[in-house]
Amino acid sequence: MKTKTKTPAKKAARKTVVKSSRSSRVAKSSKESLEDIFEDMLKDIYWAENHLAKALPKMAKASHNEELKEAFESHLKETKGQISRLEQCFALLEMKAQGKKCAAMEGLVEEGQDAIEDHEKSHARDAALIGAAQKVEHYEISSYGTLRTMATVLGKVQCAELLEANKDEEAAADEKLTRLSEKINKLACEGGQEE
Ligand code: FE
Ligand code: FE
Ligand code: FE
Ligand code: ZN
Repeated sequence: MKTKTKTPAKKAARKTVVKSSRSSRVAKSSKESLEDIFEDMLKDIYWAENHLAKALPKMAKASHNEELKEAFESHLKETKGQISRLEQCFALLEMKAQGKKCAAMEGLVEEGQDAIEDHEKSHARDAALIGAAQKVEHYEISSYGTLRTMATVLGKVQCAELLEANKDEEAAADEKLTRLSEKINKLACEGGQEE
């Protein structure tokens, strides 16, 4: 583990709050910055979900196993519902639904693309696709967990519920992929190209 260094002073310099006594400045800026972080993370996951929605049809098409293909197709439907929950969140916050590029999701989707490019349509490709997809699910689960907790702390109860609903859906999608991987990894291990 790397040792944590102190957060740079530029973070504080970014704040427009007027400096007063140390304790009140910290209290005020930490509340404001939590709201800023929450809003930024909401834009991040909104971009991420929209980016994933474009990748899922490719992952479905690249799947050899019919059940896996259906899992990606049904997760696309869920993803569209998640995007609409995020839009409800933006509306509740009186914010414009706007994405902010998520470097993590961009990279995770690239790994999914690699799984397709590196393998012929086979059980092995399916196993690689599931691996990439589960990384996506875990990123989303952690993002929604973080956002839900922030929304709760910030008193945004309805947003917290919407974010929790997305989190639960991602967790169920992840579990479904684990179940599929148990079957598909076995097939990949046997090395067969047949169903
Ligand atoms: Fe999602
Ligand atoms: Fe991100
Ligand atoms: Fe990686
Ligand atoms: Zn997902």
